[in-house]
Amino acid sequence: MQSKLLPKTRKEAPKDEVSLNAQLLIRAGFIDKLMAGVYTVLPLGLRVMKKIENVIRSEMESAGGQELLMPALQPKENWKKTGRWETLDSLFRFTSHYSKIDLALGPTHEEIISPLVKKFNLSYRDLPVSLFQFQTKFRDEKRAKSGILRGREFLMKDLYSFHSDEKDAESYYEKMKGHYENIFNRCGIGEKTYLTFASGGSFSKYSHEYQTVTEAGEDIIYVCDKCKVAINKEIAGEQAICPQCGNKDLKENKSIEVGNIFSLKTKFSEPFDLKFTDENGQEKLILMGCYGIGVGRLMGTIVEISNDANGIIWPETVAPYKVHLIGLKGKESKSSQPASLAAGLARNLYDKMAKSGIEVLFDDRDDVRAGEKFADADLLGIPYCIIVSEKTAENNSAEIKKRGDTKSEVLPIEDIIKRIAVS
Ligand code: ATP
Ligand code: MG
Repeated sequence: MQSKLLPKTRKEAPKDEVSLNAQLLIRAGFIDKLMAGVYTVLPLGLRVMKKIENVIRSEMESAGGQELLMPALQPKENWKKTGRWETLDSLFRFTSHYSKIDLALGPTHEEIISPLVKKFNLSYRDLPVSLFQFQTKFRDEKRAKSGILRGREFLMKDLYSFHSDEKDAESYYEKMKGHYENIFNRCGIGEKTYLTFASGGSFSKYSHEYQTVTEAGEDIIYVCDKCKVAINKEIAGEQAICPQCGNKDLKENKSIEVGNIFSLKTKFSEPFDLKFTDENGQEKLILMGCYGIGVGRLMGTIVEISNDANGIIWPETVAPYKVHLIGLKGKESKSSQPASLAAGLARNLYDKMAKSGIEVLFDDRDDVRAGEKFADADLLGIPYCIIVSEKTAENNSAEIKKRGDTKSEVLPIEDIIKRIAVS
């Protein structure tokens, strides 16, 4: 019920909010800003986040991932082991008031999962294995001006895989590319998202990022139109060449890194002495891979590439609701009059759709003008808008309009429900 929905929409975004994703999401009531880089996810926003989460979860599960949840609060020792206590500038560090021990707020979880998996004393029979979580990360980001694209606190999906040999690690890495592609396709950003060759650190030649092309991006990539991959400027050098086909005619684009996959080799198993027992009873270092996606960043990216002058246009898979049902009052009916024909029909339609499992936001507000309701519907960006007015109600029908389309159709109520159920 929109009459009870918090918060109300806003005409203006906060003045200090320069990014489009945060402006639209704040105005539409999906998020609220607490301070730079830190946002509350409001009820509408949480519905979207959960949808994105479920798309990612289903793909991670079909990649054999098992879900767990690791702590954000972490002891200094783990970070000392890898040297990142000293070297990672974005690490939030502080001291406990009572125990005086030094703690970190986790920016990523290699330092936690490696010693965790060591406790399981894995043998070759247990491998490969992969674990993932949806978890709040903390990073002391230098710049936090991109709204929810770069938070200092943000939700990430991180998966870690464990392998007995290079071949197995590589084949899992290749398999995961397919699942990542599925995720971005299912979230409606597939067409603009490129597998991008990026720096591999000291252990392998490349890592791969998933970069979505948009002016809002902080990264620069060179896209090869022939093989639909890209190379990050960070590693491209003077003359960018497509690493896959040698093409030199690449297009420069700004882009957002929505995810990345990384072969870690033994970078973390070494400091934590994470080993497995092989067929001959010998102990060997486990090889690791890590696979990240920023859930909030993904939501912000969708908003950046899917909007118009009036507001957000959610792809159906991640929309907070499928249908925005608007009941309008006839001009002559006074607010003291309880149920106009249109109000009664809208209520009835709402019940029917709810019963058949269709997710509907019902704009039941009787103190809001029609024009304002339409403006709100455009701003919120729910895929289908169904409008019941006195005029359509007289013919037991309603108007249906797809967000982003200019044309609308008036259909009998039964056909409206059928149309929604099959689309
Ligand atoms: P970036 O290069 O943008 O700083 P990163 O390379 O440090 O990100 P990872 O540590 O690999 O990112 O994190 C995995 C994923 O988490 C990223 O691909 C991105 O989608 C998301 N992510 C990283 N930092 C942030 C942030 N500050 N706010 C929101 N999402 C983030
Ligand atoms: Mg990066």
